[in-house]
Amino acid sequence: MEQLGFAGMPTRLFSCTPSKLAAFAECPRRYRMTYVDRPQPPRGAPWAHNALGATVHNVLRAWWLLPREKRTPEASRKLLNDAWISDGYRDAEQQAAAKERAVGWLEDYLRTVDPDAEPFGLERTVAMRTERLAVSGRIDRLDDRNGEPVVVDYKTGRGALSEDDAAGSQALALYALAAAKTLRRPCRRVELHHLSAGEVYSHVHTPERLERHLRRAEQTAADAVEAESKLSAGAPVDEAFPPDPGPKCGWCDFRRHCPEGQAAAPPKDPWAALPS
Ligand code: SF4
Repeated sequence: MEQLGFAGMPTRLFSCTPSKLAAFAECPRRYRMTYVDRPQPPRGAPWAHNALGATVHNVLRAWWLLPREKRTPEASRKLLNDAWISDGYRDAEQQAAAKERAVGWLEDYLRTVDPDAEPFGLERTVAMRTERLAVSGRIDRLDDRNGEPVVVDYKTGRGALSEDDAAGSQALALYALAAAKTLRRPCRRVELHHLSAGEVYSHVHTPERLERHLRRAEQTAADAVEAESKLSAGAPVDEAFPPDPGPKCGWCDFRRHCPEGQAAAPPKDPWAALPS
């Protein structure tokens, strides 16, 4: 995708999602293997915590699509059985324990949710453009709070979160900006609904803070475009997209193709990040 720059030279408009930007910021080599290399190098085995997260997201979507009178906390058990994704678990016993845990999270969470509060959207795709970026993404739930859209992101991980995570999330900020553009109304509140902890973390952005998130996203996009240009111009692949090894490498889908990542962190079992 291209736009004309001020000097008449073509300027690339970087088409992305928040995950794509985060991938480059976290490790350019992982970004390359995810978004640049074709065919994509084979990934490692699927992760059980991702399967559990996807299942819970699907249940919450399906719950809102039930007729109003069926939206009860207890309805989540059947929805979970229907939506269950079995990838990555060690065995049937571990799956059964994870199912019970997830039903508990869902029932507790749904007791706090007003089933009459119809959201603006579920897994709603929103998009926006700037001079450098065409960013799009899918919001787990876009609430309607007295006419103002609120970005809701579900979390099921075991790590502790805080309001700083809601404030500092570039993804949530970009979703708020894109939701405002898509719905043509202000959107400043973002929320992390951490089901496994039974907590909600909120932040109300100022326009200045949203602008700062956007500028950082544009800088990451510019860096990614420059890396691709270097590669096209013949630079060595690891100069254009260097590895950024660290503890996170234990969780990287491309660890087996990355000697630096293998040296940085031991491999993890596919179920190692399941919440206990
Ligand atoms: S293993 Fe680590 S350094 Fe290697 S690609 Fe993955 S995140 Fe990057």
